[in-house]
Amino acid sequence: MTEARMDTDLIIAGGGLAGATLALAVARVVPELRVTVVESFPLSPDALPEDYQPSYDARSTALAWGSRVIFEELGLWSELSEHATPIQHIHVSDRGRFGATRLHAKDHHQEALGYVADNRWMGLCLMRALLAANVRWEAPAEVVDMMPLNQGVRVSIRKDGEEQQLTGQCLVVADGGRSGLREKLGFQPRTVDYGQNALIANVTTSEAHQFTAFERFTKSGPMAMLPQGSPARAGHDSALVWTLDDHALDALLEQTDEDKCRSLQDRFGWRLGRITRIGQCNHYPLKLTTVDEAVRPGVVLVGNAAHALHPVAGQGFNLALRGLMALVEQFRMATDEGVSIGSLSVLSEYQRRHRQDWQQTVQFSDSLIRVFGQSLPPLALARDAGLVGLDLVPAAKRWFARKAMGTGGRKPVMPSVKATEESARYEP
Ligand SMILES: Cc1cc2nc3c(=O)[nH]c(=O)nc-3n(C[C@H](O)[C@H](O)[C@H](O)COP(=O)(O)OP(=O)(O)OC[C@H]3O[C@@H](n4cnc5c(N)ncnc54)[C@H](O)[C@@H]3O)c2cc1C
Repeated sequence: MTEARMDTDLIIAGGGLAGATLALAVARVVPELRVTVVESFPLSPDALPEDYQPSYDARSTALAWGSRVIFEELGLWSELSEHATPIQHIHVSDRGRFGATRLHAKDHHQEALGYVADNRWMGLCLMRALLAANVRWEAPAEVVDMMPLNQGVRVSIRKDGEEQQLTGQCLVVADGGRSGLREKLGFQPRTVDYGQNALIANVTTSEAHQFTAFERFTKSGPMAMLPQGSPARAGHDSALVWTLDDHALDALLEQTDEDKCRSLQDRFGWRLGRITRIGQCNHYPLKLTTVDEAVRPGVVLVGNAAHALHPVAGQGFNLALRGLMALVEQFRMATDEGVSIGSLSVLSEYQRRHRQDWQQTVQFSDSLIRVFGQSLPPLALARDAGLVGLDLVPAAKRWFARKAMGTGGRKPVMPSVKATEESARYEP
């Protein structure tokens, strides 16, 4: 049973995409739990969109169809979809080689294979919904340590230059993996450094994207062009994710915008006509970081703290979201049974249920880089044969589409507590 004198039930370290979505999901699905989010940056819609944490920067996130379904369950989709562009087609190709594969939403009886959502807008929607929900904020504040108790945890928080203690049944670490909290609590991450960087920019092209996402594999690494903007904006904007090694990145960053457009044209080709504009370029080093065990008594890692993937396959947040919903389902069951949500049996059951999806998604995104990052002739030939095969063999295509759509056979968390769009909608 739960200790009587806990300050709160669930403490979430980090209010980025993963932490904020988890807080909202718990507020919707297990409303009797008291949730406290501790976030290093100020948390208020007024702080958006300029001065905010990494989750809510100028990037876009490719949301799988399955993620749309989850946001519908959370009552946030109708608001999120105001700035989410549908992906109706995916075109996968290999620069300078003959293989290509195409996926179409209509072949899967869906209106879209996925969506490209604006991160700042997602942040704003999440903050608004959370301010309206019964969630407590400690921000700006940092989780600096944690001590296990008999039936819960004591978390040390640094706020306004002072250290405070907060007790709860369970600590969820959603700090993105950069704050060192994961290591401090004894988790051991494994990291593969791809020796590459992701360059992110918004790009305008002379041809409309027609709601097509392009995944293109080049000798220097994979790139993706994701459709952005509503048809009202004539659909000429795309979000670029371009992987480059350090040397190529440095060289590109020194170029004028005109030359950058030319370099990109050379790599990407002419499928979207002329590349007429490239916006501000941000870049991130690319690594695959995972942990074998994401749970300890009273503690669980989620989001990038548990698994940070290569962004080209667009799987990181989608995988995180499915994990969050599996965790919330365990919290619901534990609460119904009067068991502490931080007990090892509850958290281990979550890990057992999420592990297969997690391992397969990590493997899928890693193999995309390993197979398509190679320029050795036999591998390149096999890979072309693979792409052509994928285009011809319906079963192989369906497998790829299932990965891209991120449905993974997930069922709604609890049909009885599924929020409706109307009832859950926040009105400012
Ligand atoms: C270039 C790029 C493109 C991507 N594209 C896609 C995509 O298309 N589709 C997809 O599914 N995924 C994509 N991803 C992955 C996706 O962005 C991440 O999965 C997602 O941002 C993870 O969010 P998070 O909340 O786990 O971590 P973060 O976004 O890093 O958030 C962590 C939060 O914790 C706070 N924090 C840190 N330390 C502490 C502490 N000690 N105490 C309190 N708070 C703390 C930080 O301020 C921050 O707000 C992409 C990633 C990158 C880098």
